Amino acid sequence: MTFAPLRDIVIVGGGTAGWMAAALFSHILGPGGHRIHLVESEEIGTVGVGEATIPPIAIFNRALGLDENDFLRQTQGTIKLAIEFVDWLRPGHRYLHSFGAFSRSLGLGHFQDFWLRAHRLGMTDDWEPYILNSVAARRGRFIQPDPRRQSPLEPLAHAFHIDAGLYARYLRRFAEQRGVRRTEGKIVRTVLRAHDGFVDAVEMADGTRVAGDLFIDCSGFRGLLIEQALNTGFEDWTHWLPCDRAWAVPSAHDGSAAALTPYTRSTARPAGWQWRIPLQHRTGNGYVYSSRHASDDEAAATLMANLDGEALAEPRQLRFTAGRRRRFWNRNIVAVGLAGGFMEPLESTSIHLVQSAISRLITLLPNHGFDPAVADEFNRASAVEYERIRDFIILHYTATERADSPFWRECRGRPVPEELARRMRVFRALGRVARDHDELFSEVSWLHVFLGQGVWPRDHHPLADQLSEEDLRRFLDDIKAAVAREVDAMPTHADFIARHCKADSLTRTA
Ligand SMILES: Cc1cc2nc3c(=O)[nH]c(=O)nc-3n(C[C@H](O)[C@H](O)[C@H](O)COP(=O)(O)OP(=O)(O)OC[C@H]3O[C@@H](n4cnc5c(N)ncnc54)[C@H](O)[C@@H]3O)c2cc1C
Repeated sequence: MTFAPLRDIVIVGGGTAGWMAAALFSHILGPGGHRIHLVESEEIGTVGVGEATIPPIAIFNRALGLDENDFLRQTQGTIKLAIEFVDWLRPGHRYLHSFGAFSRSLGLGHFQDFWLRAHRLGMTDDWEPYILNSVAARRGRFIQPDPRRQSPLEPLAHAFHIDAGLYARYLRRFAEQRGVRRTEGKIVRTVLRAHDGFVDAVEMADGTRVAGDLFIDCSGFRGLLIEQALNTGFEDWTHWLPCDRAWAVPSAHDGSAAALTPYTRSTARPAGWQWRIPLQHRTGNGYVYSSRHASDDEAAATLMANLDGEALAEPRQLRFTAGRRRRFWNRNIVAVGLAGGFMEPLESTSIHLVQSAISRLITLLPNHGFDPAVADEFNRASAVEYERIRDFIILHYTATERADSPFWRECRGRPVPEELARRMRVFRALGRVARDHDELFSEVSWLHVFLGQGVWPRDHHPLADQLSEEDLRRFLDDIKAAVAREVDAMPTHADFIARHCKADSLTRTA
């Protein structure tokens, strides 16, 4: 049997997911003859949040050939070196989950081996002074990596805070310049082929039809094609991640160095946690909470009482269910973004999941026809990716000493997935992170969160005993001094923005 080539790709939805897909497909597939068509509805709008990212977004930007400073200018963006977790272990405690290296190794010994031994000997009680990203974040400094730099330390690793609406607009311009056709309109019907149930076309309220070979469902939580048309099913993870609502509100800031922290802040609250994301023109704030543990009014009041500037709008509520589609790729539909699944934004992973889904789709893109083996592989890899991120997020809730509200008492007592339980056991035994190599979160990320959340190894690795106490002290002092010297030489984050990527004051979301 011969199949016609698959060349017409229809993207349903013009939020961050839809326009990221349109931008990458038009850039990579357009020259080979694929035609990309995006349908979106201004009347329905987008979810309008999604402002904190993680470092792999730089790979996506580079794949598109975007200039980093222009991207920051166009999105009112700022730099993100870390996430600060406040009150998560216990009230009054704070730690950073920093990007980049966990200080530096020595021979085969990892830094944490030496640090743990030094801690037992009473030489140090904090790992942050040895970590370049952490010290730069605390001191509000940033410099772009320079290949000419000579240093025993790895350079800063960074991500961005961006205005989600401006990012979609920026990518829309990029995609339309590369031939993406956009149709404005509300889809009211999905037309399925009678003989195999594959999608033939989507139909707008005015009767216009957009037909295609492959449909990318970027329609948000509703999953217009993957769920409403194909009833694919949803795996609900509320029993592990009970937060199901959020209030979001922007607030004003004065543009000072103190306001423009180069990190996201996550502060534990009685029924969930609050985010703080500084952009150039405003601060994004939100309270993610469990509706079983706080009423909507209580949650809104908690958020509004904990802003560090004047609110610029009324708070807006979002409702969600943690989990994922049973299949991301079903027949000729691939669900990307919120249509595929959702986990709370504690580790800023949703935009990354969009990026990795569309990269995976390009890797597995069929030329002619749909072989079920390809969709199975896409679904297998996506499911593993979601589950590993889910476990990392659960770690923050399970490893806590908080017992000051019903929400936190439940979090502490809740059983966790066996894979996470195994990792915690291995780490407690010897300070090693038992993870697979292709997972999103590196050993460094797990280390920060294990140690920050109070999951400590019972013993250090024997390699750390190879140094005398005097050499151990010198090793740590030298790193601390090198980190301090490098950070001293960096401009402030506010200066960096002012000098290199200050947004035009007219660049604003409506
Ligand atoms: C509270 C909260 C905070 C978040 N914070 C972060 C964060 O800090 N970092 C991060 O990475 N992610 C975050 N996310 C996730 C992030 O917002 C999303 O992953 C991202 O915005 C992608 O959304 P989307 O494009 O899939 O969906 P949407 O933005 O909902 O877009 C859906 C699109 O489909 C269109 N559409 C729907 N139905 C129809 C129809 N019938 N006809 C035509 N068009 C239709 C809509 O018009 C819209 O264009 C957060 C999410 C929530 C809920």
